[in-house]
Amino acid sequence: MQHGLQESLTKQDLSCIWHPCTQMQDHEGNIPLIPIQRAKGAYLYDFNGKAYLDCISSWWVNLFGHCNPYINTKLKEQLESLEHVIFAGFTHRPIIEYSSRLLGLLDSKFQKCFYADNGSSAIEVALKMSFHACVIQSKNTQKRKFLCLENAYHGETIGALSVGDVGIYTDTYKPLLLETLKIKAPVGSEIEESLEQLTQTLKTHKNEIVAFILEPLVQCAGNMNMYDVRFVKEAVEICREFNVYVIFDEVAVGFGRTGSFFAYEQCGVVPDFLVLSKGITGGYLPLSVVVTSDEIYNLFYAPYFTHKAFLHSHSYTGNALALTCANAVLDIFENDDILNKNRVLSGKIWSAMQELKTFNRVRNLRHCGMIFAFDLVGFEGKRKGLEVFNHGLERGLLLRPLGNTIYLMPPYIITEKEAYSIISSLIEILTKIGV
Ligand SMILES: *Cc1c(COP(=O)(O)O)cnc(C)c1O
Repeated sequence: MQHGLQESLTKQDLSCIWHPCTQMQDHEGNIPLIPIQRAKGAYLYDFNGKAYLDCISSWWVNLFGHCNPYINTKLKEQLESLEHVIFAGFTHRPIIEYSSRLLGLLDSKFQKCFYADNGSSAIEVALKMSFHACVIQSKNTQKRKFLCLENAYHGETIGALSVGDVGIYTDTYKPLLLETLKIKAPVGSEIEESLEQLTQTLKTHKNEIVAFILEPLVQCAGNMNMYDVRFVKEAVEICREFNVYVIFDEVAVGFGRTGSFFAYEQCGVVPDFLVLSKGITGGYLPLSVVVTSDEIYNLFYAPYFTHKAFLHSHSYTGNALALTCANAVLDIFENDDILNKNRVLSGKIWSAMQELKTFNRVRNLRHCGMIFAFDLVGFEGKRKGLEVFNHGLERGLLLRPLGNTIYLMPPYIITEKEAYSIISSLIEILTKIGV
């Protein structure tokens, strides 16, 4: 139909745009750059009309499909009354409504929402806020270090990178990063050594540590490392003993991804700071929030000249359009019984995936809620995941493996039939590339 347009857009793009998370030279032939004309539900369409099934929710953000009719309607309505307003000294209905709804879904300990506009910025907020809380409580605080897990990912600003440990993102910037303390990450049910290291580190450094930050249940960018709820529960209890704050980064695992609305609900413990983003607007607009207690909030609440205010701000904080999408996302969760439907669907996808075990080099098949993953082993130093990615594109699938870890993190509107077709394509692909 529009032949040539696809190719010419790719060319124009590469002449003026530097893409994220990409070695741009790969676009010389290793990886295509695909202009997308439109999208609907779980499908993206290029300018040749070719469809791609979005198996990874466009980087884990899209919960209810692209161009979702309900979210579109709400967004268009909002667009007619207020798009954005400065969020210091001014406020608006979408954000007031959202904040009270969100708090209503959370443990009663959570009483205040602080907004930012992406996951990394919200991590910065949680790091600064927890440190600042220590400063307020003791002017001469020695507490200035964060404790984190190996293999963690919390985003790519300098503070967020400092508490992360995925080498391809952190290594180059090490000279710039904050000094942190790291302990071994739990893997599956192997949690004892991590707990032991946690206790030892806290014993030795308790007076230096502001907070322990972790991704509860799944280290997503860390190759979908899934681990036992017992680690989260016991780790938080240990931190409590040593009077160290706990930050849960639920940027990726929040909003139903692990089966419960929030991952912490499965763990039987509540953190001091809960960080949410990714699914929050259903993949429409950037937004993030750090939720905390009145106990923390009240530390900062004081006369102006005490200089205790938490001044962190972004120009687009509390964007009314983003908050409108966030409200629409909560509506859909409420109206469409999403969590229960996901439970059924997740079980079916998981059973169908068992067939992948017949491949010799497929290992660690695992799942948690609506996250499914496996590793291709015995290909060290080979970009086997990239082969899967390219064969996936040929077959109309958007997969984007993490190294040689292949995963599915589909939008919740995916049908059983679509899920089965992804798995049969995967079987074809693995056969073809000799796994
Ligand atoms: C994606 C991600 C972030 C960073 O969010 P951005 O919006 O990409 O800055 C932080 N933590 C986790 C667990 C993530 O998956």
